[in-house]
Amino acid sequence: MRRPMMAANFKMNKTVKEATNYIKEFSKLVDIDDRDVIIGASSILLYAMKQELNNKNIELSSQNVHWEDSGAFTGETSAKVVKDLGINYTILGHSERRQYFCDTNETLNKRVKNALKNNLQIIFCIGETLEERESNKTLDKVSTQLNEGLLDITIEEMKNISIAYEPIWAIGTGVTASPKQAQDTHEAIREILGKLFDKNTAEATRILYGGSVKPTNVKELMSQKDIDGALVGGASLTPESFIQIVKF
Ligand code: PEP
Repeated sequence: MRRPMMAANFKMNKTVKEATNYIKEFSKLVDIDDRDVIIGASSILLYAMKQELNNKNIELSSQNVHWEDSGAFTGETSAKVVKDLGINYTILGHSERRQYFCDTNETLNKRVKNALKNNLQIIFCIGETLEERESNKTLDKVSTQLNEGLLDITIEEMKNISIAYEPIWAIGTGVTASPKQAQDTHEAIREILGKLFDKNTAEATRILYGGSVKPTNVKELMSQKDIDGALVGGASLTPESFIQIVKF
């Protein structure tokens, strides 16, 4: 039985005051401990959010980490420092990082390795464009992203990695993959993981769905056999909305 993982992605939203107020309010609402609840925020907010957090059922996450711990990498986030802040998660490979900040499967593989070296849990994002879906290339795309992004990762290390399947055409668009579309792709992703690692690893790995998840569609998505959680952008930005998703 895989433990559900409900993760927020604030993207580049919120001031320090807004983010700490969110933590204060949201902490009061999270009164369950049967699932992982994670909030991914800009690196610049994480320290203040961590100071405010006193609910042990909520974890924070960065949205990216570099492949070196330190050095001449202006503007990047160090996995070592994320861990030093007491933060245990990072999102890697979000489509916006791939699209606007030149992340490739190769650079992501290096980021994955350094995040693991620093004992961070990873939410590793994959997904296809609309054009790729319409030309039946979805599985080729996610398979390449997994093969290359997780190159040389061991079965043991996979215990610290969850996959977020986020069809790019559904991110921030209000268009959600239907529960069946999402389930079919999640099932295929699990098969790919089985070939890349082994059957037990594939069965144990959590696969989150992301793309316009809302309080109104989360329950049906979460009832699918291979959907183990959600990565939520827009609908995570208020505690009232995100708690409904968390508690689906
Ligand atoms: C995301 O940012 O990962 C995301 C899925 O966004 P949204 O929920 O707004 O589509």
